[in-house]
Amino acid sequence: MKSQIIGFHQDEFGDWVAELSCNHNQHVRHQPPFQLRPWVTSEQGRLQQLGVQLECRKCDGEPGYLRENRALVRRYYDELWNRWDLDLIPELLAPDFRFRASLGSMARGRSAIRDYVELIRAAFPDFHNHVESMLAEDNRVVARLQYTGTHRGKIFGIPPTGNYISYAGIAIFAIGGHQLVSGWVLGDRYELMRQIGAISEP
Ligand SMILES: [Zn+2]
Repeated sequence: MKSQIIGFHQDEFGDWVAELSCNHNQHVRHQPPFQLRPWVTSEQGRLQQLGVQLECRKCDGEPGYLRENRALVRRYYDELWNRWDLDLIPELLAPDFRFRASLGSMARGRSAIRDYVELIRAAFPDFHNHVESMLAEDNRVVARLQYTGTHRGKIFGIPPTGNYISYAGIAIFAIGGHQLVSGWVLGDRYELMRQIGAISEP
């Protein structure tokens, strides 16, 4: 099956990976020489490749529900969070959605997650969740994320600094009845606090 490139990121080891619209990833840098691939090595080259179709072998023979589960998590981040489309909460989240937020707080139910999204939005109005990769198995999806934004409102008691923040996270979702029933997210809270000056360097 052919799939469009929707983004790029570097994996844990610094190698470039193309993100596909099927929500699979494809390593684009494991066959040297890299200098013959300007679309991998330069920012401009990568931007020019967005929308290009690649053959995705991972899609072949994959059960449809795994693709649907990844697409659900993708919508949760791209639409509910990145576009602040909170009207999607009843569609994407189960009524009793249980949530451990990346900053450590626990929430239960749709109104609690709405409050949490609003809290983050007030602190970082341009908050962006970049989904770098997803793995799906059974009723679970694991996503690796990079969160970015600008510190424009109070958080952890720290008044806005205007600092640009960027920290990593891992999320594990459970899916049932075509909705997210739980999300357990571990974010690099220490790194975030350091970037807004809540922690001084030792
Ligand atoms: Zn695929």
